[in-house]
Amino acid sequence: MADNQEYNVKQLLEMGACTNCQACTDVCPAVSSSANGELSAVYRMKGLQTLLKQRTGLLGRLFGKKPLTQEELKHFSDTVFRCTLCGNCQEVCPVGIHLKDLWLSLRHDMVQSKSYPKKINMIRDNLAEDRNVFAEDNEERAEWVEDMRDPPDDNYIKDQSDVVYFTGCTAAYFPLAQKIPMALAEILDRSSVDFTLLGEEEWCCGFPMLGAGLGEMFQEFMTHNLEAVREKGAKELVFSCPSCYQMWREHYPQEFKLSHSTGFLLNLLKKGRIPIQKLPLTVTYHDPCDLGRGSRIFEEPREIIRSIPGVQFVELPKSKENCQCCGGGGNLEMVDAELSAEISKSKIQEVLNTGAQAVVTSCQQCVRTMTTYVRRNKVDLQVMDITQLVQKALRPGD
Ligand code: SF4
Ligand code: SF4
Repeated sequence: MADNQEYNVKQLLEMGACTNCQACTDVCPAVSSSANGELSAVYRMKGLQTLLKQRTGLLGRLFGKKPLTQEELKHFSDTVFRCTLCGNCQEVCPVGIHLKDLWLSLRHDMVQSKSYPKKINMIRDNLAEDRNVFAEDNEERAEWVEDMRDPPDDNYIKDQSDVVYFTGCTAAYFPLAQKIPMALAEILDRSSVDFTLLGEEEWCCGFPMLGAGLGEMFQEFMTHNLEAVREKGAKELVFSCPSCYQMWREHYPQEFKLSHSTGFLLNLLKKGRIPIQKLPLTVTYHDPCDLGRGSRIFEEPREIIRSIPGVQFVELPKSKENCQCCGGGGNLEMVDAELSAEISKSKIQEVLNTGAQAVVTSCQQCVRTMTTYVRRNKVDLQVMDITQLVQKALRPGD
């Protein structure tokens, strides 16, 4: 059984500040797509407070209450993992409770308390054995390069380079998402940017571990990835995955310059290094949770979209810090695929209401989740990453 040391003093103080205003419930995609109030932040806060008090014996002494049974704990734990970790609750909380951090601590607590969805065991085993979350052969991490139109002889694996492109597990292995690193690699080539991949030396960034309550695995992965980047002599890392980017910003030592592809590409566009031409297309933009609310990158992707001649841009009604999650975050798809798809459905409906021909985002997981929904339901809508939008606008090469 875990103890209350899962939570730091700040978190314990913050919990006591909750006013029960329900603002977090009103914006929660898990609640609105399931019509189940037990998935709300405020329900979880109350459950957590009860759990903590019982552990200290305080509640028992004052009210004579019995500890939660294993079944009650399991019921509570189910609500903890049916959350996309989108951070919308934290964004609106008027007393500033760091709810997303609290959900991560709570997941770790549930794993330590041996009350968690069995899928978490699969995530742990995959990471321990294969160094990626999907049980794929890690030696094949950069095989997508071979599917490019014109792959270079070195397959973008160089001994030394100033820039490392850290692709992330989803883009490395899912055919739908592999188009993103292919697009970014082509743009970097056309802009004469020298870069390298880490190939099989790239291990999971650690984000799925924290989301699954498996934080104790992280140190080994971080140490390995840091060493792999150092060996390339790199000064900068570029990410097309917002979760990898956030992980490196918040949990790795700050040794390298870290750039998300949006900032990196905007910089190249401003210097006139990306050869683009007119692209007639009406698009809207979906802010990925970890890039927008998580990393406060809102303007760069919009500047890129506006700088492509011919592209018409329409905002979603809920955008920037208020953007609604696509349903793909927090390992939700692995734990409750149905709820994840329901959240996607409401996202796609919001997109369709704008009349846009395409929804652009800056995240491989968002592309995967929204494309899966659109294909399964035969919706006439293009889904693409910002790198794919820029790739579409590239002038034909020599
Ligand atoms: S992180 Fe998102 S899905 Fe989870 S409780 Fe908060 S608003 Fe709901
Ligand atoms: S928004 Fe904040 S203060 Fe209001 S109920 Fe939710 S956690 Fe409590």
